[in-house]
This record gives sequence, structure tokens and C-alpha cells, in this order.
Amino acid sequence: MNLHAFSISLGFRDEQLKKIAGDKPPRFEKTLPDIDEPDELAAFFKSLESEYDRLLFGVLLETGLREREAMHLEWSDISWTHRLLQVRSKPRYDHKIKDSEEREVPLTKALIRKLEHYRKQHAEDRLFFGKLGGTVDEPDGHVLRRLKGLVRDAGLNCGICATCVSSKECEDWFLHKFRANYITTLLRNGMDLRSVMVLSGHSDIESVMRYLRPAGTKEMQAKVDAIKWR
Ligand SMILES: [Zn+2]
Repeated sequence: MNLHAFSISLGFRDEQLKKIAGDKPPRFEKTLPDIDEPDELAAFFKSLESEYDRLLFGVLLETGLREREAMHLEWSDISWTHRLLQVRSKPRYDHKIKDSEEREVPLTKALIRKLEHYRKQHAEDRLFFGKLGGTVDEPDGHVLRRLKGLVRDAGLNCGICATCVSSKECEDWFLHKFRANYITTLLRNGMDLRSVMVLSGHSDIESVMRYLRPAGTKEMQAKVDAIKWR
């Protein structure tokens, strides 16, 4: 649209433009998902003061759950002995996920220890992450707002984006960041596409491949150096 307006201002006529560009709007490739710089994420986690927040965002980062999946997690979804998290529909809360998205996600030993510790103090609750910092045992619909507030308090707002200026909420921070990081990290650590597809609840490989990006120059250099060329 901008180009169109610009071309008209240069004196082109609509018919001429159609001849050049056709009258259908151009198709864009889906944009690459945003991936956090590790330093930025480390600073965010370091700033978190409550156990609830460390656990909430830790789970998002280390399981790649979607927002709605995380807010409907129940303690009964954990298999403590197998260190697995069941991601499934919750008819009780009217939360439905597609068949291809139901899955089991492995939990690290460190994460399961943190969950055990938190669980002991919230033995009566059904949900992992209830409202108002876990004080009300109902699904929290304001996780994004929570993230934005924590980022602002930690001084991690970029300070220049439109929403930073208008409302001190940085548009660089959104919940999908944690999921994108999860998927990219699995891929970077050599997990095969098919497994990443299952773990992230995608129904096709193409969606997962969007997270495959070239490594940085340094990483590429190291890989090339490690090859026995002759
Ligand atoms: Zn910003």
C-alpha cells in the first residue's frame, strides 16, 4: 500500500501500476519467529522475585507450552516418576486442543524439583498457575500483562517501540517468545525435526522448519573448523 501511494505520487496511473505489478497483492512468506537473545532472557529471569513467576516463565521456556495450555495446567497432568507433563484438553474450563497437539513433554530434573517444592506449598490447588500470582485457583487470563509489568519493572523495556512510549509496555516481549526459544533451542541442540514437531504440538514439519535459522557466524565457523576436510 505504501509503495502504491508512493508510485501514484510520482505520477504513475493505476492502470500502469497494474501492468507492472498485477492487481493482486504480493504474497509474503511467513515472517521468522522472533528469538530472544540469551542475555536478555537471563536478565529477565534474574530479575524475577517470586517463586510463582520463576516457575511460570521457567515452565514456558522449558516446555514450550502455548499460553492457554500453560494457564490450564493441572497438577494431575504431571507424572512425577516419569518426569512427564501431559498436555491435554480441559473440558472443565472449556479448553480444547487439537488431537495433534495433545502430547507428553519431558521435564528436566531441575524443573521437576522446583515444581515439587512449589506444589508442597499449594497442596490444595488444582491448577499450576492460578490467578493473581497463584492465590486464586482459577485460570489466569492475564499472563501477558504480568509479563509486560515484570519486564518494565526489571528495566528491560526497549524504550523506543510504540507501546513503550505510549504505555510503558514493550512490544518486544510477548508470551510466544518463550515457546519460540524452546523450539529453537531444541533444534540448535540437534534434536530431529520429527521429535521437535511432536514435542511442540505441531501437526506439520513446515511449521517447525520456520524455527530453523542459520546459526551465527561464530557457530558456523566452529562447525566448519570441526569438519575433517581431507
Ligand atoms: Zn519497547
